[in-house]
Amino acid sequence: MSSQECSGKVYLVGAGPGDPGLITLRAIECLQEADVVIYDRLASERLLDWAPQAEKHCVTEWGEAHAQRAPKVTELLVSLACQGKTVVRLKGGDPLVFGRGGEELLTLAEAGVPFEVVPGVTAAIAAGAYTGVPLTHRGLSSAVPLITGHQADGSPDLDWASLARFPGTLAIYMGFDRLGYIAEQLLAHGLPAETPALTVQWATTGQQRCVHTTLANLGRAVREAPLGPPAVTLIGPVVSLRDTLLWFERRPLFGRRILLTRPRGQAESLARQLERLGALVDVWPLLEIGPPPQPELVYEALRQLRRGAFDWLVFTSVNGVHATIRALDEMEADLRVLGEVKLAAIGPATAQALAQYHLRADVIPGEYRSEGLAQTLVPRVRGQRLLLLRADRGREILLELLKEVAHVEQVAVYAQREIPGIPPLVADRLRRGEYDFVPLTSSNLARIFAGRIEPAMRQHLGNRTQLVALSPVTGDTLRQLGLPVAAEATSYTMTGLVETILSLARANSPQS
Ligand code: SAH
Repeated sequence: MSSQECSGKVYLVGAGPGDPGLITLRAIECLQEADVVIYDRLASERLLDWAPQAEKHCVTEWGEAHAQRAPKVTELLVSLACQGKTVVRLKGGDPLVFGRGGEELLTLAEAGVPFEVVPGVTAAIAAGAYTGVPLTHRGLSSAVPLITGHQADGSPDLDWASLARFPGTLAIYMGFDRLGYIAEQLLAHGLPAETPALTVQWATTGQQRCVHTTLANLGRAVREAPLGPPAVTLIGPVVSLRDTLLWFERRPLFGRRILLTRPRGQAESLARQLERLGALVDVWPLLEIGPPPQPELVYEALRQLRRGAFDWLVFTSVNGVHATIRALDEMEADLRVLGEVKLAAIGPATAQALAQYHLRADVIPGEYRSEGLAQTLVPRVRGQRLLLLRADRGREILLELLKEVAHVEQVAVYAQREIPGIPPLVADRLRRGEYDFVPLTSSNLARIFAGRIEPAMRQHLGNRTQLVALSPVTGDTLRQLGLPVAAEATSYTMTGLVETILSLARANSPQS
């Protein structure tokens, strides 16, 4: 088939080594454009969130050995591209380093399928960076061969004699079970027994585990350590610099697993904050944010606003702010409808959402919850006309408290819809008690969470898994549901939540 007949395209994209932050900007652009994403297990599933529009296939789940699977993968790539689809083939690390990316490209080229390649951070480079090992270093290492420890059937063994003489750092991919044999070969060919060696499993993720040893002990050390593939091994004098340059494993949430339940778009920034502190984050969105149940009511409220019917707009969430501005857009109106109206925001995040539209909140309470907002507003709004812009469900307390002193109307500017089910990976981890922390950021999420978990999951709560509430209200809801609360955030913001998780982690860290 010639390329004229094939209107689609394949992007062979490097996903990086595991930390979802290590993807390239170009890779994100491709994911955003994709109709279909085809990925392996080595690529972080979090990256798929960059392609909400795309169909996704995990080829590792097909179960067969790589050699049997490979032709089917390329067949799928060719057939999708020839249906006119934009296909992202996402591969762990760099797609052309030991990933058989070259073979996939050759098949595409033969079939006349247009393609582009996006490089990625390969495992050895990433492992060096995240373990404090500079792969090249003046006086210590002037070359870095990337070596496969796994020998394809029938291919000749590597030239161990020349590798043993290499004036640099050997980086060995795959062949975890052959590390003892590889060390023997290098020793036999004259590489000194005391040469430092470092095997790194799951580099760049919160699951990163290392064995730091010498060449002579490498085989025994990896056999005895609780370690397995995927791992890379770095061999050379630069490995000793790690003692001074270690940083990743020292991060305060290193290795801690955290489950977030916020709606997808809202979980991302919290997830990144926690990941930057070393945590492993899964996102299980319990809710999704959608259009208001009755958009006409929203438009009507905003038309009244334009006619001067309100003195105050009261925003109780970031979503409420964005949904209101979206409604104005849909009505082909703009911020001028606000005129001199005053704006109240329940907390700093909501005020920040207003600031994105160059709107300044006139009031933010000291305590970021409905009661706090009511208390701050009551003395200022006596006899005035207020419009509450809120979700289609939630607490009524603000309305009730304000109604005592002012004329209050409320309108649902967005809807929250429950997403049914539990992703299988999250369910398994909850059953095994693998999460260290589950932060819950609203009573609504707390109730849905409590309703979804099975007894086998519940038994870990309060033991291995600590529930952290964003506010005392969420904390009370959890306790009423019979769930143990390890802590409530000291300030009811995402920063407060992160600080609370940090102090819990410090309190039960192995060193404390
Ligand atoms: N294309 C990938 C390599 C694929 S071969 C890349 O550029 O990184 C698979 C091997 O890569 C694994 O057996 C292991 O040796 C290595 N590897 C991939 N990701 C890794 C990680 N996060 N930590 C350690 N080794 C990894």
